Amino acid sequence: MRNERELALAKTTLAIMAECDVSPIPDNFELFYNYSAGENPAVGRIIGEMIVARRPFTVSLLHELRERCFFRDRTERAVNTIGSGVSASLNDVLKKLEAASKHANDYGETLSAAKGELHESQSPDDLRKLVGGLISATQTMEERARSLEGELQNSSEQVSDLKLQLDNVRREALTDPLTAIANRKAFDTNLQAAIADAQASGESLSLFMCDIDRFKIFNDTWGHQTGDQVLRLVASCLSENTKGRDTAARYGGEEFAVIVRGTGVNHAVKLAEQIRASVEGKKLVKKSTGDILGSITISIGVAEFISGESAASLIQRADACLYRAKHAGRNCVIGDNDPRSAEFEIDAA
Ligand code: GH3
Ligand code: MG
Ligand code: MG
Repeated sequence: MRNERELALAKTTLAIMAECDVSPIPDNFELFYNYSAGENPAVGRIIGEMIVARRPFTVSLLHELRERCFFRDRTERAVNTIGSGVSASLNDVLKKLEAASKHANDYGETLSAAKGELHESQSPDDLRKLVGGLISATQTMEERARSLEGELQNSSEQVSDLKLQLDNVRREALTDPLTAIANRKAFDTNLQAAIADAQASGESLSLFMCDIDRFKIFNDTWGHQTGDQVLRLVASCLSENTKGRDTAARYGGEEFAVIVRGTGVNHAVKLAEQIRASVEGKKLVKKSTGDILGSITISIGVAEFISGESAASLIQRADACLYRAKHAGRNCVIGDNDPRSAEFEIDAA
């Protein structure tokens, strides 16, 4: 049977939903079907962990998971709708311009005919009629021009509105929905641009890779939703400390990255240290209960761009420093100029 796989997936999905006490409404079914089919690894991991930890799927959590899971679909749909809107507006404008051109032709013909008649008709009566006809044709033309102007103005407003919608969708497509900072796609694009600029100008460029310390334990203790609040808090510390042309982005899961332009590793490590201290200094309180959750820490690896290297190589070197920061005891910053990284390399060899 052709639908065998889908049927089996649907049955598994319903069984998982029943097991997790999730209401079998279509929205939830779509989300859990997606989970059973393994279509979204990030959301799949969260649902998997929730199931293992036997945490309840609250209405708000289900809503947030759906937001994450179907974000791309929504963006595609929005772009398609805007695209259809733009082509409808353009078609409309083209039709109006075609009609205007036909009216202008007609008017031209009326004028040519009048010119011919002028030579022949000499009587004042004929002249009066001719002039009367011309005045009326000119008035009609004027009215049409005015109405065309109004219609074009309308179309132009519609196109501006669609452009605004497109800008919003574009911004949304480059923003991480949970933390509202740049997402991985924006990070990749900005890093490529920053590398190209640094290569061309010879300006320094540094990259941080940050990771929350022992975050799994935090989630297991306080739940994913509280964990998500921590992700928002770390993101806000990062964006508060990055200005201008720098980019703070959610790299994935509980990892963040910061691109710092015009800055070498010494200064970048100082900035990273400032961010690390700012995260450590925040006192966490659970909104719903007022429970004091203590504080959270992050580890940061910093690498400075070496002329000629690729984005992947720079990321890999910053990641290696982050790995060393974790091994150095966490809640610290290690730059690629740090003696601890060299010691580690000797250890590892
Ligand atoms: P380490 O100090 O070595 O980084 O330890 P860790 O526990 O932070 O690292 P590990 O990689 O073992 O666990 C990462 C955790 O991050 C697991 C997962 O629950 C959590 N996580 C990843 N993405 C999200 C998310 O979007 N929301 C929440 N709440 N947690 C997430
Ligand atoms: Mg990690
Ligand atoms: Mg971690």
